[in-house]
Amino acid sequence: MSIIHSNLQEIRRQIAEAAAKCGRSAEDITLVAVSKRFPAEAIQEALAAGQAVFGENYLQEAAAKRAVLGKKVRFHFIGHLQSNKAKLAAETFDVIETVDRIKIAAALNRNLEAIDRKLDILIQVNVGLDAAKSGVLPDQTAALLEQVKEFRHLRPKGLMTMPPLSNNSEESRVHFRNLHTLAKKMQSYGLLPEKKMELSMGMSGDFPIAIEEGATLLRIGTAIFGKRPPK
Ligand SMILES: *Cc1c(COP(=O)(O)O)cnc(C)c1O
Repeated sequence: MSIIHSNLQEIRRQIAEAAAKCGRSAEDITLVAVSKRFPAEAIQEALAAGQAVFGENYLQEAAAKRAVLGKKVRFHFIGHLQSNKAKLAAETFDVIETVDRIKIAAALNRNLEAIDRKLDILIQVNVGLDAAKSGVLPDQTAALLEQVKEFRHLRPKGLMTMPPLSNNSEESRVHFRNLHTLAKKMQSYGLLPEKKMELSMGMSGDFPIAIEEGATLLRIGTAIFGKRPPK
């Protein structure tokens, strides 16, 4: 068995364990394997081990991998998106998790309309009010979702966050909890779906805590593929 295969098995075991511990069904939690900076071969190995959903941060890199792998994989974009790259993004991804401003939403919608495609998106929220992070501020989230509602080619499914870096995973908990509370509020305003609302939170270092706080999408890279090669 390859190292990627055994890492995936171990992560799946830990997801099941964390879900059971808090009375959730592991089936409601999707593992997004973050393959940024790893070659298409690494994705092929994960595919062979039954992993079909991948997270990518760099547009050109992801588009090149898409050209090799085709529609066998589902790609989530989890990087910072520039509106002048919206065309390629609209063509390449199955989900864009990092919509955080009206300009990018408008650019995506325009390009999706041109290719007659609808796309699931998440709103990235800077719940930690961290100057180093992208994301809409929590108190601006409703206003952004109100505007996104007008864009017929975008389907907002939920929220995503990346808490401030910390060596102590417990410090992420309050941010995960705040994202969940904010998402429920958006749901109560009719701005996010009643069913299957997504909460993308939790990475290699803190995903069991994210599961306890309601995560439905886990973005895990290092624990599956190992230490990332330099750019
Ligand atoms: C790289 C990245 C991850 C994966 O982080 P690991 O610590 O390697 O699991 C998750 N989310 C985002 C937004 C990332 O950029």
